[in-house]
Amino acid sequence: MQVAIPDHSLVNSSPQTLLKDVFGYHNFRGDQQTIIDAALDGRDSLVIMPTGGGKSLCYQIPAILREGTGLVISPLIALMQDQVTALNEVGIAAEFLNSSQSFDEMRAVTAMLRRGELQLLYIAPERLATEQTRALLREIPISLIAIDEAHCVSQWGHDFRHDYLSLCELGTLFPGVPRMAVTATATDRTRTEILTRLELNEPGIFVAPFDRENISYAVQVKTDAKRQLSKFLQKRRGEAGIIYCLSRKKTESVAAQLCEQGFEALPYHAGLDPEVRRENQRRFLAEEGLIIVATIAFGMGIDKPNVRFVVHFDLPKSMESYYQETGRAGRDGEPAAAWMVYGLQDVVRLRQMLDESVAGEDYKRYERYKLDALLGWCEVTGCRRRPLLAYFGDSLAEDCGNCDGCLMPAASWDGTQAAQKLLSAIYRTGQRFGAAHIVDVLLGKATDKVEQHGHEQLSVFGIGQDRASATWRSVTRQLVVAGHLRADAERFGALVLTDTSRGVLRGETLLQFREDPKLPAAVARRSSPTRTVATKDQDLWEALRECRQSLASEHGVPAYVIFHDKTLHEMLQFRPQSESAMLDISGIGQTKLDRYGEQFLEIIRQQC
Ligand code: ADP
Ligand code: ZN
Repeated sequence: MQVAIPDHSLVNSSPQTLLKDVFGYHNFRGDQQTIIDAALDGRDSLVIMPTGGGKSLCYQIPAILREGTGLVISPLIALMQDQVTALNEVGIAAEFLNSSQSFDEMRAVTAMLRRGELQLLYIAPERLATEQTRALLREIPISLIAIDEAHCVSQWGHDFRHDYLSLCELGTLFPGVPRMAVTATATDRTRTEILTRLELNEPGIFVAPFDRENISYAVQVKTDAKRQLSKFLQKRRGEAGIIYCLSRKKTESVAAQLCEQGFEALPYHAGLDPEVRRENQRRFLAEEGLIIVATIAFGMGIDKPNVRFVVHFDLPKSMESYYQETGRAGRDGEPAAAWMVYGLQDVVRLRQMLDESVAGEDYKRYERYKLDALLGWCEVTGCRRRPLLAYFGDSLAEDCGNCDGCLMPAASWDGTQAAQKLLSAIYRTGQRFGAAHIVDVLLGKATDKVEQHGHEQLSVFGIGQDRASATWRSVTRQLVVAGHLRADAERFGALVLTDTSRGVLRGETLLQFREDPKLPAAVARRSSPTRTVATKDQDLWEALRECRQSLASEHGVPAYVIFHDKTLHEMLQFRPQSESAMLDISGIGQTKLDRYGEQFLEIIRQQC
């Protein structure tokens, strides 16, 4: 165990000093300072910030500055390990208590706690629920209690955890200790639920702007998904990324395909052997350019800062999931991409899964609403970021300039007549067929199925020859999204008309459709310029990276725990020649300077 003896001189120093000297950052972001001050004054608060927004510092700093040990309650064991390692690296005495530890390890932590040697203790909620732990914690001074992933207390969310409910007792158990609930989930409903269930005492409520400016958003319609993915990845060799798929099987096939193309890619899903799963996750964190192809089982608790892209290869189930998952890209603030492909099949499948689920009717209705919001967003023709932020109650005064809608605006066209043709074809064929057959009928194709059902006799046969089959698929998808058409689960997904179809057929409802951009791969490239290293800097860059990698291996930590990419980029740009110049680089505080400064200075001096 490599815990530093706590630096008691830090107690009563200022947040700004701590930020600079320990964490190596120059300025607080957004509300960080105000949130920290509130906790230092002993007040409770609720902090809502998007993933990567910088929530940890909000509780770490006051926990260190106040007398006693700060408790951080987190449901994510993997994340605890990471955070503790990162804190130890900057010289903070932190440890964790959870079920992954041996009895001896736990005893060692407990002893340190009793001796007042810990500045921060990460703890799993179930551990906190035991009488034994509570008694132990009442013996020692507690500086602050942070409740991470506070939305887990919400019974509406899919992350609900029963042991979070008992956290309402913390106020009574530790009177006078400020509590801070933090989460990235922003909907009003969750917010209200957190406030009532945790029984926070007149809390300050801080909602950070949800915009992640460095992430570029792009959504494409699936045409040839695997080829689209290859194109997207072409310019991203050597970068770390996450690709989300809906099924376990698909994660494996996509990972295999990428490996064939010379990428390093690993699958991750709940069905893998736990050993393999842990190893794949470990490698993703430790190595530089690995791609993980995962189901949503992967990600909670991944705080690797240099994930350069997040791909949704299948549709997520809501805007909330989408935003949380894409939020794992670019936590270091450097350019990153969120790229998604989706098609009619995704829509149909997700709707069917909902219809068939055993959940209560009002829950299903809520989930349907959330899925529809996401689908509507996929079909947006202008700036994509504005409606995205609007959904989370935030707004943007101007178009963002960093999304596909801004960079490659999709044209729209009057689709009323096309929609009428399509709906008629569905109606005339008896509402018994899927999209493929309907499109064949519209195009007037004499397939076996057409002949078998005598559909070449119908008045609608061939009335759609003025448009390509891709356009008809797009029209179908957009009608489904808009609710003028639905796939009937009881008829094997056959397309059937809805209550609102009549309005379209009668010409009372006018429709505008999105024209799918023709050059899909170019979008993702243009909208997310990666930081490039000039040819003249290449040698120094490689030398810095090599130094970081060898230090990381030596210390048994991921490379980014030594220094973030951003820090290396700044070294490249400013070429610091002295220790004090080194301290001006973002991400270098006194401890890191003492540990690694000299080795990096050496390299820079050699090259200049
Ligand atoms: P989250 O809100 O998801 O918990 P983190 O607390 O992990 O986000 O912060 C995300 C990244 O931003 C981390 O790498 C962290 O070191 C960095 N960070 C946080 N606050 C600042 C700051 N004031 N200046 C520079 N970097 C910061
Ligand atoms: Zn935009």
